Parts: sequence; C-alpha cells; structure tokens
Amino acid sequence: MTKSTNENHFDYLVIGGGSGGIASANRAGMHGAKVGLIEAKDLGGTCVNLGCVPKKVMWHVSEMMEELDMYAEDYGLELSEVPKLNFKKMAENRRLFIERLHGAYKNGLDSNHVELIRGYAKFVDPHTVEVEGKQYTAKRILLATGGKPKRPSIPGGEFGIVSDGVFDLEALPERIAVVGGGYIGVEMSGIFHGFKADTHQFIRKSTPLHGFDSIIREGFTALAEAEGKNVHTNKSVTEVKENQDGSYTMYFGDGTTHETDLILWATGRTPNTSGLNLEVTGVNLYPDGYIETDQYQNTTAEHIYAVGDVTGRVELTPVAIAAGRRLSERLFNGKTDLYLDYNNIPTVFFTHPPIGTVGMTEEQAMDEYGKDQVKVYKSVFTSMHSSITRNKQKSYMKLVCIGKDEKIVGLHGIGRGMDEMLQGFAVAIKMGATKADFDDTVAIHPTAAEEFVTMR
Ligand SMILES: Cc1cc2nc3c(=O)[nH]c(=O)nc-3n(C[C@H](O)[C@H](O)[C@H](O)COP(=O)(O)OP(=O)(O)OC[C@H]3O[C@@H](n4cnc5c(N)ncnc54)[C@H](O)[C@@H]3O)c2cc1C
Repeated sequence: MTKSTNENHFDYLVIGGGSGGIASANRAGMHGAKVGLIEAKDLGGTCVNLGCVPKKVMWHVSEMMEELDMYAEDYGLELSEVPKLNFKKMAENRRLFIERLHGAYKNGLDSNHVELIRGYAKFVDPHTVEVEGKQYTAKRILLATGGKPKRPSIPGGEFGIVSDGVFDLEALPERIAVVGGGYIGVEMSGIFHGFKADTHQFIRKSTPLHGFDSIIREGFTALAEAEGKNVHTNKSVTEVKENQDGSYTMYFGDGTTHETDLILWATGRTPNTSGLNLEVTGVNLYPDGYIETDQYQNTTAEHIYAVGDVTGRVELTPVAIAAGRRLSERLFNGKTDLYLDYNNIPTVFFTHPPIGTVGMTEEQAMDEYGKDQVKVYKSVFTSMHSSITRNKQKSYMKLVCIGKDEKIVGLHGIGRGMDEMLQGFAVAIKMGATKADFDDTVAIHPTAAEEFVTMR
C-alpha cells in the first residue's frame, strides 16, 4: 500500500464520476481548488451509461416507430415497406454516442485540472481514501456515488434483468414483462411497446406513478387502455420459474400466471454506500442506506458532503448537477449561503406521450393550504397532431392554483410535446406566476402548449 504524499493530497476529493460528482469537481477546479475525482467505472455515471442518455436514444426510436405505425398513413404517407427495427444497429450507434460523451467529460475534467483516479474508493479514516492500494488525503470529500437497481427478494427474483441490463440487450425480446409502476417501469414498458415487442407491465398498486397528480395517473391509464397497452394493476409477483424452453412463468398473488421471454425488474433503486467503509467517517446513513444531508449537502461528518442519488432526494441528473455546483460555489467561491432549493423541480417521464410535472399535486396543495384555498383548472383534449388521424390521442393538463390571486403551485400534464413545453412553464412557476399571468400571455397557435394559457 502506498501512503499519501503531498502529490496525493487534495483540497477536494470527489468519489463518483457521475452527474453530481463531475459537476462539483469541475466547478471546484474552475475556482482553483486542487481536485481529485475517483470513478470505478465509466465517466458519466448512471445518466450517461445506464440511464437518461441510452434510454432517451431508445425513446426516440420508439417514438419514430409509433409515429409511423399510428399516424403516418392518415397523413397520406405511403410507406412501401413496414419499417423494421435493426436493434443491433440502434445499440451500436447508441454505444458510439456514449463513447463520444466519455471523451467530452474527460476533456472537461482536464480543462479544469481535475485529476481522474480510476478505481473503487474506500475510506481509511475521515480524511483518507484508498483506491487500488493507493492512499489519497483531502481537506474536504464529496460522496457522489449514486445508486443501483434493486431486484425483489422473491423466489426467482434472480431471473431476468434490471434497468442496467436493458442496455446490454443485443436483440429485441419477442415478449417482455416489465415489473414496477414507477417512472422507470412506465418508461421502459412504453419503449418496448413502441418497438413492437409483446409488452406487459405489472404494477403492485391500483395505478402507476403513485404519488403523482391524479391527472397524470388517470391520463396514463386511459391512454394505455385506448392504445392497447397491457398495463396490469394490482398485480404482485410472488415467484418466477424458468421453463425448459428458456422462457419464464411469473406467478402473482391473485393466483394468476404470465409467461414471458424476458422479465425487467423496475422495482426500485438502492444507494451505493455499502462498500465505502463509511463507518470510520462519522457519516450517518438512514436505515435504507441513503446518506443524511442538510440543505447545504453537509453530512454529519464535518468535512464530508454528499450530493445526488446517494442522498435519496429527487433522483434526477440536473438535481445532482445543481446540488454539486452549488456546493462547490459555497466551498470554493465564497458563496457561503448557496444551496439547492428542492421545491418546484420540473420532471419529465419519457412515456408515449410524455409526462411533465412541476410543483404540488392537487392533493398536496389541499393538504398544505386547505381545500377552499385550492382552485384547479383542467383540460382534456385531442391535439391537432392526431385530430385528423384515426387514432385520436388525448392530452391531459392541469393547473393547481392557491389563494385569491390564484398563484400556480402545480402544473401537470401528459400529452404530445409535454417534455419540451415543461421547462419554460417551470421558470414561470418558480417565479411565482399566477393564473392571471398565464391568461395574460398570448397563446402560440396551433400548439398543445397554448392550452395551459387558455384554460377556463
Ligand atoms: C433507467 C434510468 C433512466 C433515467 N432517466 C433519467 C432522465 O431521463 N432524466 C434524469 O434527470 N434522470 C434520469 N435518471 C436518473 C439519473 O441517472 C440519476 O439521477 C443521476 O445519474 C444521479 O447522478 P449521481 O451523480 O448522483 O450518481 P451516478 O450518476 O449514479 O454516479 C455515481 C458514480 O459513482 C461511481 N461509484 C460508486 N461507488 C463508487 C466507489 N466506491 N468508488 C468510485 N466510484 C464509485 C459509480 O460507478 C457511478 O459512476 C435515470 C436513471 C435510470 C436508472
């Protein structure tokens, strides 16, 4: 084992080269700190390698296929052949794209003089970390180790794949069963349905996307029904058995079964905290393994901080980035009061059509402000995109307003274009826009977005 030398001493040592770690390391380097970034696998973490980026590539392909399948003909597009997905080519182009991103991240680190240290980090003492037998010390240490998918602990839970495995598939399964009603479950089942795999989604609860506004849950379910998607609710998998031909039989609590070629468990995630030897640091973990942090991303150990998924707060890339950058501004650029406000974070789920949500649900607003203080505006409509086609896809939108001045505290929707329209509305809501501000904004016609400024 090599002991730490001056060369191995840093102002800031960041563990985890994903969204939060890279952002924080670069920002600290920009302000002149001597920074080391430790990464065990590929640069970019979950988002770039096993999450947002490869998923969005597949979502685009799936959208294109649905567009051709469900709408093209009625717009007069004559396709001489039924388009076929070359899964291998899609996967290869996705890999090449991600490889380019790895290069871009490395260049970013180099230009901010951040030293990249490859390997798994483990604490030796509160200021010392060991990687591949070499010790590094630092004045301050950031934990940005993210999380990983979880399998259910049921007999046969070891069969099939978790979300990471989706990006290793070399061919499209003929039949796939997606288990889980969270955002990864709804996104993945949508992608495979668009790819024309025989897709079934199984959800333990009575609706998917538990905790999101009722218009999203109801809209998603109604669209799935209208478009023949197999979304099965109140279905708890109790066991999986492998059949002789390599397929699987899934057994449910209600006595029913389902046969499939591939199971994708979208049954939650767990933080990467177990191998870090955090016991020697004074960093407190919640019972589920997530790191306890205050609003400034301080852990319970004085010089150790945590950002991103490992803290279990709003597990999204831009959240990890924003928290990481703000932390470095606070530690290395004198902005001593800077922290990330976790309220009003806009979120999109890349379903077909996409879901967008920011702020409080109707239910949360009623709990917080009282029923009589909440006014809700809703719109369910067929957007122009599918008005002329046989498949009339509906959009669902809602504004949640409070008080006499009808301040908008929540905006939710599912419908074509919702992904791209949400960002601008999120700015308005963050700034405290009221319903009157929305009414006073001239609509953009013909769009689906105009519905948000013309609701009665
Ligand atoms: C399927 C899927 C789809 C998603 N889609 C979206 C999306 O569309 N939009 C969005 O905003 N978010 C999305 N997310 C969430 C997003 O990927 C995460 O919120 C984000 O990556 C969190 O960043 P992070 O820095 O906290 O952790 P990560 O990006 O997970 O990075 C952690 C890094 O730490 C490394 N590491 C762990 N332990 C050690 C150790 N001991 N030593 C050294 N290195 C270590 C890991 O190898 C990893 O590279 C998705 C996630 C999944 C799984």
